[in-house]
Amino acid sequence: MTAPTPVDVVETHCPYCALQCGIVARTSPTLSVVGNRAFPVNAGALCAKGWNAAAVVDHPERLREPLARDRAGRLVPVGWRYALDRIALGIRDTIRTHGADAVGILGSGALTNEKAYLLGKFARVAVGTANIDYNGRYCMSSGAAASNKAFGLDRGLPFPLEDLENADVVLLAGSNPAETMPPFVRYLETLKGRGGALVVIDPRRSATAQLATLHLQPMPGTDTALANGLLHVLLRDGLANQAYIERRTEGFARVRAVAAGYWPELVERVTGVPEKKIVEAARLLGTSARGFVLTGRGPEQQAQGVANALAYINLALACGFPGTEGSGFGTLTGQGNGQGGREHGQKADQLPGYRSISDPAARRAVASVWRVSPDSLPGPGKSAYELLQGCGTDGGVRALFVMGFNALVSSPSAHEVEARLASLDFLAVSDFFLSETARMADVVLPSAQWAEEDGTMTNLEGRVIRRKRAVAAPIGVASDIGVLVGLAERLGKRRHFTYSTPEDVFNELARATRGAPADYSGITYAKIDAQRGVFWPCPSPEHTGTPRLFLDAFATPSGKARFHAIKHKLPAESPDKDYPLFLTTGRVLAQYQSGTMTRRVPALNAMSGTAVAELHPQTAARLKVVDGGRLAVKTRRGSVDVTARVTRDIRPDTVFVPFHWPGEQSANRLTNPALDPTSRMPEFKVCAARVDPVGSKDPSPALRDPSKDTRS
Ligand code: SF4
Repeated sequence: MTAPTPVDVVETHCPYCALQCGIVARTSPTLSVVGNRAFPVNAGALCAKGWNAAAVVDHPERLREPLARDRAGRLVPVGWRYALDRIALGIRDTIRTHGADAVGILGSGALTNEKAYLLGKFARVAVGTANIDYNGRYCMSSGAAASNKAFGLDRGLPFPLEDLENADVVLLAGSNPAETMPPFVRYLETLKGRGGALVVIDPRRSATAQLATLHLQPMPGTDTALANGLLHVLLRDGLANQAYIERRTEGFARVRAVAAGYWPELVERVTGVPEKKIVEAARLLGTSARGFVLTGRGPEQQAQGVANALAYINLALACGFPGTEGSGFGTLTGQGNGQGGREHGQKADQLPGYRSISDPAARRAVASVWRVSPDSLPGPGKSAYELLQGCGTDGGVRALFVMGFNALVSSPSAHEVEARLASLDFLAVSDFFLSETARMADVVLPSAQWAEEDGTMTNLEGRVIRRKRAVAAPIGVASDIGVLVGLAERLGKRRHFTYSTPEDVFNELARATRGAPADYSGITYAKIDAQRGVFWPCPSPEHTGTPRLFLDAFATPSGKARFHAIKHKLPAESPDKDYPLFLTTGRVLAQYQSGTMTRRVPALNAMSGTAVAELHPQTAARLKVVDGGRLAVKTRRGSVDVTARVTRDIRPDTVFVPFHWPGEQSANRLTNPALDPTSRMPEFKVCAARVDPVGSKDPSPALRDPSKDTRS
């Protein structure tokens, strides 16, 4: 594959989260980055992760040659030809012995659109397996499923971020952008500066909650009860937008009947949120002409994640926000290409463009672009956790190819996942570093990074942007696109994979999405450059993209948004006498996802180098845990050893552990793999836990005199 010559100054995008901040990469004398003031989303601002993006490129731990396991069980350097031959052999042997579905493929929401698309095609055309999924299953699947159910289409934010600034109210449920994507906060600050209100729902008084006009701090696992309680007050007080409900929605009568049972006194008992605050939040929403309801992973990463998101959508619909210019409902995508990554076919049930793999017309459309028979395409496969759970078992996956997914750190019940990966006949991993998952592999491929490759990403607004090559990849490192082409050739399918550049892949992707829900057919690299991004759908060369969806109609058959009657249910696991606390998990500012990249950056480790668990002073005193001391957090699935931070910013019934670390600090050794019945999202955000001190240490100043801290 040919690559253009790198140049000195390149406008590209941060390798981390879905905000996809614009950066300017300077390549001389060494690679460095600054924020790109010309890119509207971040206007030059970056967070600590973005500022340090160059540090992962020329990193001493970077993989620079393929590795393969030798007879003694050691990973040793090998040539590319040998590595690809061995992977192809592993795939062919597995197909011959167990059938194509015994080959599993796992992708990532960090892959460019081109790679995500090609990985899906590779699975279906070169391997013939149904079993491909990706780590976005653990991130966006509940929010996406809820949006599809309610609006007929999922684009995380169906409006540009700039719309938030002019709203009267924004309700943010279970998201902490002040830490996860700090440049986003400027939109909230502008809103507040104009007199708008920010309502934050979070069991923690997070950095974002500290900016809020009003913070509701519910018990983990009670989102639906709270959303229904807010809806109850809206309806009781005559604040619902009846004209909008009649004109633009369906299914309201049943929701009204359900909401009638969620009177605020009851909801206070269920959620722990004072009735007064429930009423205040509902009135802020109900009296605002322009407003937004936004959900994050808090309500979504639960075994009832889809129901929770639908309950918040009901609230937004009752206010008349979705599909109204200057208002809306959205779900905040997390991973860098979490949006594009869920559109182009690396999800178990999807073909490119958000087409369903079970839809005969969709299969015909994609098969004609791929020049294969529709009947040759497999059907839907297993979701990420189910695929991992079946690894090495009869009827399960026996050979697994993983691209940019550190499944061992990201998956719930990580001990079990480790055992399952160890039982595979064959494991191959492509990554930048020797991740915890890569350490278990038979073959490891070193892949090119953000600054070393061209491609496109789709940010949390649905804006398709260019990732541009600034520097050459180290000798010995290859593009994932080249890897897939090389493997397809070895599997006898080269004629379906004839690309010279990532742009060739994109142009085929665009054709494959023509007429699909996520229609990229009018997008080209040149148009993206000229417009600094193109919002999909963009169905023709003349079309300039669609920043705002649903203004005339929703994407449902009737054109109306659908209410869903949702009742509160308990989480899959509730505290009891053995495990008396809730465990909830999440991110910190300086680390990202499984930490494969950020844990290798000294400046980020200086900010957050280890997992720190948060618990309330009352809880700490009862358990004899001190601030800064060691703590064992235990659940029915495992135990971790972390540092304690004693803070009044968390509920007394809850302990919080960030999930970026492996091994003894791995929060996902604790989490519950109970899955949402629709999205197959694991319940990362709530399970029962206990806390025990490990050793002892002098109490911190805050603990010596807790009475001086007067916050409740
Ligand atoms: Fe990168 Fe996200 Fe930070 Fe922006 S907010 S610099 S995209 S990690």
